[in-house]
Amino acid sequence: MGRVLIIGAGGVGTVVAHKVAQNADVFTDIMIASRTKEKCDKIVEAIGNPNIKTAKVDADNVDELVALFNDFKPEMVINVALPYQDLTIMEACLKAGVNYLDTANYEPKDEAHFEYSWQWAYHERFKEAGLTAILGCGFDPGVSGIFTAYAAKHYFDEIHYLDIVDCNAGNHHKAFATNFNPEINIREITQNGRYYENGKWVTTKPLEIHKDLTYPNIGPRDSYLLYHEELESLVKNFPTIKRARFWMTFGQEYLTHLRVIQNIGMARIDEVDYNGMKIVPLQFLKAVLPNPQDLGENYEGETSIGCRIRGIKDGKERTYYVYNNCSHQEAYKETGMQGVSYTTGVPAMIGAMMFFKGEWKRSGVNNVEEFNPDPFMEQLNKQGLPWHEEFDKDLEL
Ligand code: NDP
Repeated sequence: MGRVLIIGAGGVGTVVAHKVAQNADVFTDIMIASRTKEKCDKIVEAIGNPNIKTAKVDADNVDELVALFNDFKPEMVINVALPYQDLTIMEACLKAGVNYLDTANYEPKDEAHFEYSWQWAYHERFKEAGLTAILGCGFDPGVSGIFTAYAAKHYFDEIHYLDIVDCNAGNHHKAFATNFNPEINIREITQNGRYYENGKWVTTKPLEIHKDLTYPNIGPRDSYLLYHEELESLVKNFPTIKRARFWMTFGQEYLTHLRVIQNIGMARIDEVDYNGMKIVPLQFLKAVLPNPQDLGENYEGETSIGCRIRGIKDGKERTYYVYNNCSHQEAYKETGMQGVSYTTGVPAMIGAMMFFKGEWKRSGVNNVEEFNPDPFMEQLNKQGLPWHEEFDKDLEL
């Protein structure tokens, strides 16, 4: 029924490959392609299904991608390489007639800045080609948008306040490590914060606003206001929203390391001269930091990500909290990867499944909240990310 090509053999790609292989009734032909073919082969070996094909591809190169697409002829590409590759992969999809899904919006390499405009600009071309593009189908962005769409569909006439809360209460026993690609992660966290209020975007200094929020089964954790990409599409798709914010927990130890990294110039993304060689400090730092893919074995604790929503139903105010808790150890046992890769990879697989089952098929470029959330929510419960709801409780926000 479904021919799928996964691009990127990192932590998230590994989880996507495992989950795709587990759903053989939907995904009948599978290929994993990445910059380093050996990494793809290692994933196939771990899954133990020799029918999964592998290939080497430079996803910055449109012609190389087109050649690979024409050879394997996938119906859909799941892009779990880095955000830098989004546009080249979308371009190649248009050239070869392939549908597209990703988990993070485009970011230029030389500017730590992300917004949807670059990818939304592809809407008409995907529409004319009769191809579906699904943007931001990880956990956040991804499930955070689907949770919001589910709330809007079933519980609210108008959503007024939306707070996406992302807690990682895990311990990997390293002094400092990031949970996904360190370069992308550090770029994201060191940016200005930004939230939406009364039709305007309000900018804060990086990590300026924070407060204790209580997470289920975890307790209170200091949570910091960040800008996160799904806010941009959610306030557009749910125009009754008066305020939308995103919060993420960080421990003091993590923040101290981050401050030092910035203060000594290691978070710089411009080229510096080192012994006659041009290097980007943040890329060099990535090479010496723990690989997020190796954190799983000793990772304890869990993540808790959800949406806290306040709005109106039948003229009355109500609150709603929908969330998933994911155990790092359980994720590791199933896929060899920790919870952050797991919570991203499982939704990416479900998004592709929605496409192949015909539930989420719409020509053009779409954010996840534009589709019917119900079949996706049903699959979250079946595929390892069960969710829970709380009504009319204090949201703390
Ligand atoms: P990794 O760095 O572990 O993996 C990225 C993979 O992409 C690597 O295998 C890398 O190859 C490959 N790659 C990089 N550049 C190219 C290229 N030019 N051509 C081909 N392959 C390339 O990252 P993660 O798995 O942690 O993250 C993957 C994606 O998921 C990122 O875009 C990240 O932003 C996103 N993400 C989304 C989340 C969400 O909830 N929505 C949460 C977490 C992550 P090589 O191994 O050779 O370096």
